[in-house]
Amino acid sequence: MSIPVPRDDLIDFVDDIDDVDRSGDGRGGHPVWTVLVVDDDDEVHHATMFALQNATVLERPLKLLHARSAAEARAILEDRGHEIAVVLLDVVMETPEAGLDLVAVIRRELELAEPRIILRTGQPGYAPELSVVRDYDINDYKTKSELTHVRLVTALTAAIRSFEQIRTISVSRRGLDMIVQSASELFGRRALASFAEGVLTQIAALLKLEPEGLICVRSVATLAQEADAALTIAGAAGRFREHVNRPLAELAERDIVATIARCVESRGSLYEPNATVLYFSGESARAAVVYLQTERPLDPVDRRLLEVFAVNIGVGFENVGLFERLNFYAYFDPLTRLPNRVSFIEEVDRFLGSPAVATDYAVALLDVAGFAEVNNALGQRTGDALLTAVARRLRAAFPEGVLLARLVGDSFVLFGPATILVPPNLLRAFDSPFHARGHGVPLRIRAGFAPVSRSVDGLLPRAADLLREAAVALGQAKLDPAVRYCAYSAQMAGQARKRVVMLNELRAAIDFQRGLTVHYQPQVDAVSHELRGVEALIRWRNERGEMVSPQDFIPLAEYTGLIGEIGAWVFRQACQQLVRWRQAGEVGLIVAVNVSALQFRQEGFVDMIRGTLDATGAPADCIELEVTESVAMEEVDKVAAQLRALKSLGIRIALDDFGCGFSSLGSLSRLPIDRVKVDRCFVAELDPDNAGTGIVHTILRLAEGSGMSVVAEGVETAQQADLLQRLGCREMQGFLYGRPMAADEFDIWRGQFREARLA
Ligand code: C2E
Ligand code: MG
Ligand code: MG
Repeated sequence: MSIPVPRDDLIDFVDDIDDVDRSGDGRGGHPVWTVLVVDDDDEVHHATMFALQNATVLERPLKLLHARSAAEARAILEDRGHEIAVVLLDVVMETPEAGLDLVAVIRRELELAEPRIILRTGQPGYAPELSVVRDYDINDYKTKSELTHVRLVTALTAAIRSFEQIRTISVSRRGLDMIVQSASELFGRRALASFAEGVLTQIAALLKLEPEGLICVRSVATLAQEADAALTIAGAAGRFREHVNRPLAELAERDIVATIARCVESRGSLYEPNATVLYFSGESARAAVVYLQTERPLDPVDRRLLEVFAVNIGVGFENVGLFERLNFYAYFDPLTRLPNRVSFIEEVDRFLGSPAVATDYAVALLDVAGFAEVNNALGQRTGDALLTAVARRLRAAFPEGVLLARLVGDSFVLFGPATILVPPNLLRAFDSPFHARGHGVPLRIRAGFAPVSRSVDGLLPRAADLLREAAVALGQAKLDPAVRYCAYSAQMAGQARKRVVMLNELRAAIDFQRGLTVHYQPQVDAVSHELRGVEALIRWRNERGEMVSPQDFIPLAEYTGLIGEIGAWVFRQACQQLVRWRQAGEVGLIVAVNVSALQFRQEGFVDMIRGTLDATGAPADCIELEVTESVAMEEVDKVAAQLRALKSLGIRIALDDFGCGFSSLGSLSRLPIDRVKVDRCFVAELDPDNAGTGIVHTILRLAEGSGMSVVAEGVETAQQADLLQRLGCREMQGFLYGRPMAADEFDIWRGQFREARLA
């Protein structure tokens, strides 16, 4: 068969256009459309080449592949079927139906759905059945005489346009499939680094590129530290991998750093000739940037796919950000950014579980004395700032190897070598005041230590055991205001258990008004032998009939807050008793009631006192409240205001156990105190040979100078009474005169005391 080649279409013959890039899929450097010409007539091949020489269709040149039989065509299609855009196919070759048979092979056997097929035949009357055209997805049917340059290009253009649409759809479908798949794969990832690496791998697969790029984020990975504005490389693939977790700024490729900076600044994605930079902004992920080396500009299909993918990545970043946040809150204290209790326990357990652990390790548990008051007085925000300052001070006081965590509120815990975790190292950190929001606040701590020691069967303790032991030691330290720290000992556990039992019994005693009474101990003027007043002292007989000393249960009541109820109850009892005595004619008597520091700090304390006075009808000027030095030492101004409020009711104030604490005389002088009670220990130490030099002498001088009266406690012997008198102390309280007694016993005692005086 020969085809007439019209002269006007005759152009220079180009024998071979095979040097054009082979790939026709639009993914190489020079995209072309590949057209397979199948015909058993050489002339047709030549004529087709002539006709299509230098032709461009939809902005790309054409590349022709040639097959001279159906068999040859099949071989080419098997090998390169995916790059072929159009098959120009002769219907009649080896057999009259050879062309149509090849169509069946292309569509059914080779499953090539994308290449467009244009059938050509030399016989103008021949046309394939409509069903064949439809079933085999044949684009066009032409007689060979129609294939002039113009007509051929027109036919090819239509076919290639349709090929491109089909290709776009199937590429997108494949891409969307991948996106859906990778999304579920990515959403399984919880850590930012793994997510980031996954994103890069998936994008590279989507775009059929080598994974080569990096992902930067702002601050998600650095939650544990102070949030800073610098971008960190959270994940990377290819040659960037070694930069993971390093600041972007350290990257040697300055052009990449600059491109990313431009992307962040513009808050939008950039499509550069050799790189694609996607920008994400999210609530939790803050800014995230995906930088991808592409080496060529992305074609529109890839770009659209990437945009779809980007939506998924955006959600993924958000998820990972949230997850990391949850994780952060699960393991860190958001205020101080220190590890929390959970993380402390896990870490210590991991350490103790590792082989060859030295046992000379310890836990130190500490809390800030009176922190709740600081918080109330200065406000929550200052309180928070103080806690942060404490965290920082503690962190700086110990080397990195010492684990520091905040358990809750004002309680911190450390774990490290026992030689480093010693009380002086801990206490030293609190030597100077803490500064927060314009306040300089001195803080005192109490600490409980628990050394790591093996059990009898050689087992190491668990972190929770150590924490419990440290808490027992801390509890022990808190029972005595003068003690700042305690180390755990086995017998402490027994004591702690006893305290729990005692506490339950005390609670019941208060609730059911069982076993609690108030005793009264006389205070006398040793010179005139007159009864001046009494001190009300609580007594408790527990359920087993045992007397429990206030020295044991008052600290416990203070520690647990029960003291508020107990104190109010004692005060009411004392007032009622005072009224009874007055009704019996004892009008000059003063009743002194002890007030614990904790009670004093409770909201509504003054109101409680006022209310009880009103309810019982007890005259305020016959009431004396005994406060301890520790009360006086805390927040002098606030205490002074409270004391003045009490005094304005007519009540007197006595400073109990004076000399035991560390009162600064300066701050004492600012408090409206009427009386000082010299502590029993000084009385016991009075030395008849050195009467003038004792601390009692100093106290007396001080009191005298500030217009306060003095009463000596714990006077047991006549000799002590004698010495005190000579030092100028007239008022005394002690077994020498009378023990604390129930009210009816006291009435008998009073009768005897009067008689003795009169005698
Ligand atoms: P305090 O206020 O210093 O009470 C004096 C303590 O010394 C009383 O002990 C008393 O029995 C004891 N005492 C008195 N004279 C002598 C003596 O000559 N020799 C000796 N060795 N001891 C003497 P008590 O009753 O065991 O109370 C101990 C502490 O418990 C009190 O010390 C006080 O701090 C506290 N307390 C007692 N009752 C109450 C109360 O109702 N409320 C509060 N908040 N604390 C109370
Ligand atoms: Mg007292
Ligand atoms: Mg006392």
